Amino acid sequence: MTMADFRTSEKSWWCPGCGDFGVLAALQKALVDLQIEPEKVAVVSGIGCSGKIGNYINSYNLHTVHGRALAAAQALKLANRELTVIAAGGDGDGFAIGMGHYMHALRRNVNITYIVMDNMIYGLTKGQTSPTSETGFTTKSTPTGNLESPVNQLQLALASGCGFVASGFSANQKQLVEIIKRAIQHPGFALVSTYSPCVTFNRVNTFDFFKQNLVNLDEDPSYNRHDRFAAMKKLMETQELVTGIIYEDPESVPYEDRVPGFREQGIVNQDWTMDPAVWEQI
Ligand code: SF4
Ligand code: MG
Repeated sequence: MTMADFRTSEKSWWCPGCGDFGVLAALQKALVDLQIEPEKVAVVSGIGCSGKIGNYINSYNLHTVHGRALAAAQALKLANRELTVIAAGGDGDGFAIGMGHYMHALRRNVNITYIVMDNMIYGLTKGQTSPTSETGFTTKSTPTGNLESPVNQLQLALASGCGFVASGFSANQKQLVEIIKRAIQHPGFALVSTYSPCVTFNRVNTFDFFKQNLVNLDEDPSYNRHDRFAAMKKLMETQELVTGIIYEDPESVPYEDRVPGFREQGIVNQDWTMDPAVWEQI
């Protein structure tokens, strides 16, 4: 497999310079490095600029409705464990209308990877304040400044029992590729939240802003990524402006491996009828 195997002929709809290009390239490179065949990959996205990502990857692509990518992605994985399932979307899709699915996916631990392209704004609808916009952020929907506190998706993930919590930056390809590879290999729900600037509508949280403010945990040899408490402390100290693998549970057991009755265990048959012997046990 090469990068060409994961490209499609569809012309990109994204604005030149959009951070999402970096996330797309990193995902394609991660799949090449892991030598996963395109027909074994499914990208499931929600609505928003970032939701277009599946159109640009040669794999199965399920472009769902607003905020529902995680629900569809989990169902897909449970129906076919052979697939590498990547859920993808933006901060508005995932942490506003999709928040209910996010919280439950975190604690359910189905073996999928969730890549969030966080630009701290609604890009597709031309620049409104989003759930991750900073307090005071001025847009056409908050002309006198955002009065709310931003969602802390990384802290929420840690607090909800997520076994793999990582943060990347679309301009740091080397690091993001390694994070995505590790996330795909993690046995359970893996969050890869990426800072992916919207160059058209967000003039505050720009590439330069992140270059100046992000703390790279991978460059800190004293940081222990297996300590959930230390991870939470680090996020609170840095206001979540970190990159790297923040937390990784080496003992994660995915949801599907705890389900007593899936096809691989011979309990549910290929036609989805239940083995009579199992009914006896219920
Ligand atoms: Fe990217 Fe923003 Fe353009 Fe959407 S509006 S494609 S997020 S730069
Ligand atoms: Mg957004």
